[in-house]
Amino acid sequence: MKIAFLGLGNMGSHMARNLVGAGYSVKGFDVVDTAIKNSADDGVAPAETAEDAVTDADVVITMFPAGKHVLEAYSSGLLAAAQPGTLFIDSSTIAVDDAVEAAKLANNAGHLTLDAPVSGGTAGAEKGTLTFMVGGRQDAFDKAKPLFEVMGRQIVHAGESGTGQAAKIVNNMALAINTIGTAEAFALGENLGLSNQTLYDVMSTSAAQSWAVTTNCPVPGPVPESPSSNDYRPGFATGLMAKDLNLAREAIESTNTPADFGLAAYRAYTEFNAEDTSGKDFSAIIATKQKG
Ligand code: NAD
Repeated sequence: MKIAFLGLGNMGSHMARNLVGAGYSVKGFDVVDTAIKNSADDGVAPAETAEDAVTDADVVITMFPAGKHVLEAYSSGLLAAAQPGTLFIDSSTIAVDDAVEAAKLANNAGHLTLDAPVSGGTAGAEKGTLTFMVGGRQDAFDKAKPLFEVMGRQIVHAGESGTGQAAKIVNNMALAINTIGTAEAFALGENLGLSNQTLYDVMSTSAAQSWAVTTNCPVPGPVPESPSSNDYRPGFATGLMAKDLNLAREAIESTNTPADFGLAAYRAYTEFNAEDTSGKDFSAIIATKQKG
């Protein structure tokens, strides 16, 4: 199976390398030359253009920053350059509506498509332990599954086109709300005279137990390997959480869902996402809840 990999950035470079490591023939392209060169060192054959990368590919994987990059690529000759029946997999995190639009464009050009966003961050991309949330037809999913199993550990077929992106943003919206709630609990506990360790001992073993407490605890100390105990190094960066919550906001508005807490989380992270904070782990939002 020949693979074209477009978008060799923080995530894509690792994913492409893992596919090469599993024995697949991978041709790569990025608009940044150094990204192509770095991936060439990993065994990814460099392509001159995106079209050049896809002409003889069985599968095309895109890993771009945002929906506009995917739609621009799909609308600008990429689909026409591929053989009919090529499987286009977009693993970027983009809006549900954009994913549905991208699938329509690809299907109309005679191709199979999947939206297959991931979670697990750059560490998961590097180790091949990503979670894939996949939307699209069963035959497309069956064809892509062996590739997902190289790049990831947990593969979930969510339904038709767009449902992979839906699963991704819904999950991250719940995570953001949960993290803000946990941060407020620790801030209030501190103001009431509770030590972080005491509150952790209670919350990590009570009904308030969650990943935001036991793994990504927002205060330094109780979980030594958490970002908070390591200068809030991500983890999952605030900038990416703010991006995903903006996609959640779009979905909340387009579906008229009364998701007040999701919108509050969107506003909180949009405000918190400044130059000096966007690279910090998203649990650093606790700073906005603490006195002084
Ligand atoms: P990145 O900016 O490091 O990589 C994107 C790459 O795409 C860049 O190298 C860019 O030059 C390239 N690119 C843009 N337009 C292109 C085009 N038309 N043709 C070829 N290359 C093009 O971003 P990333 O961190 O790798 O994230 C990629 C996607 O994965 C984003 O949608 C992000 O939200 C999502 N994601 C990221 C993480 C993470 O921890 N970084 C985790 C989960 C999901």
